[in-house]
Amino acid sequence: MARLWNFSAGPAVMPEEVLRQVQEELLDWHGAGCGIMEMSHRGKEFGSVIAQAEADLRELMVVPANYKVLFLQGGATQQFAQIPMNLLGERSADYVVSGSWSKKAIKEAERLVGKTRVRCVASGGSSGFSAFPDLVQANLDPEAAYLHVCTNETIDGVEVHDLSVLPAGKVPLVADMSSHILSRPVDVSRFGLIYAGAQKNIGPSGLVLVVVREDLLGKAWPQTPSVMDYAVMAENGSMLNTPATLSIYIAGLVFQWLKRQGGLKAMEAVNIEKARLLYACIEASNGFYRSPVDKAWRSRMNVPFTLVRPELDAAFLAEAKAAGLLALKGHASVGGMRASIYNAMPLAGVQALVQFMNDFAARNA
Ligand SMILES: *Cc1c(COP(=O)(O)O)cnc(C)c1O
Repeated sequence: MARLWNFSAGPAVMPEEVLRQVQEELLDWHGAGCGIMEMSHRGKEFGSVIAQAEADLRELMVVPANYKVLFLQGGATQQFAQIPMNLLGERSADYVVSGSWSKKAIKEAERLVGKTRVRCVASGGSSGFSAFPDLVQANLDPEAAYLHVCTNETIDGVEVHDLSVLPAGKVPLVADMSSHILSRPVDVSRFGLIYAGAQKNIGPSGLVLVVVREDLLGKAWPQTPSVMDYAVMAENGSMLNTPATLSIYIAGLVFQWLKRQGGLKAMEAVNIEKARLLYACIEASNGFYRSPVDKAWRSRMNVPFTLVRPELDAAFLAEAKAAGLLALKGHASVGGMRASIYNAMPLAGVQALVQFMNDFAARNA
């Protein structure tokens, strides 16, 4: 069976070139006589894999020297708890709620320290998360331990395109970039900590990437489990215990693939074109399709949309699948459709989706 165009929000499409390389190396990595997932993480072979992955990521994202790169486990959800454990100390933190994931992040912090030390300083909830909330009006705490944001809301399709709207002053900016990391260049130096679960735009699940400024290390609560303490993990090169070796290896291959594509500036150009095509199709449909997100905040990675008549949803999904287009069903909490068009989705896949959407609208309008 052929590979179809896969619009899954995550775990998501991988570059075919990378999958073929994995397939080729799976049984015998570079003549070692066994595959990478079958060998010790303490050996020189895996040591070279993780070192190369870190070097390539640093090059792609232009990570300054005073930041640590950590390859951790537990997904972005575990970071929702790990961030307060490591950064909050005895203080409180500010959170911006811009959609489903930042809502989960604030809830998890509240579980640990209660609502008084976790302040929601701005929420897009009143507009149904159709835009990122205005931070100019927000009552930010200049003494907060950190300000937490989600720069691309995977479920709601809200993306911060101009990251300079996020205040990067004395209070460290902490960003969940799970679903748009590596889709564009980012000025890492404006952030205290960036984190991302791998299964959207990096590689297989089981890996979460944390890029953290060194001066934020060593402040964890004393009772923090050692595998959750950034400083301990940094001291041990992300290998206090066995890391997600296969996921790290594959992420490393994705980093090399990104370099071959020309890096993040080149990826951004393709991503802009893919998103432009898809939103233009929605806009030109005379209301047959509708985006719930305000134009300025429409995500380039996750494109939720609804059909004018929800009773057409099932036919849309069935016919899309028959046309070779997978996983377009929207998240259960918002309904409708969602097309995730991450780095690994080629322009041709979006063109196929747009053609199908135009045909479907013509037949059902
Ligand atoms: C998917 C996602 C998460 C949760 O990731 P897990 O790896 O399942 O914990 C958190 N934040 C964002 C923005 C996401 O897209």
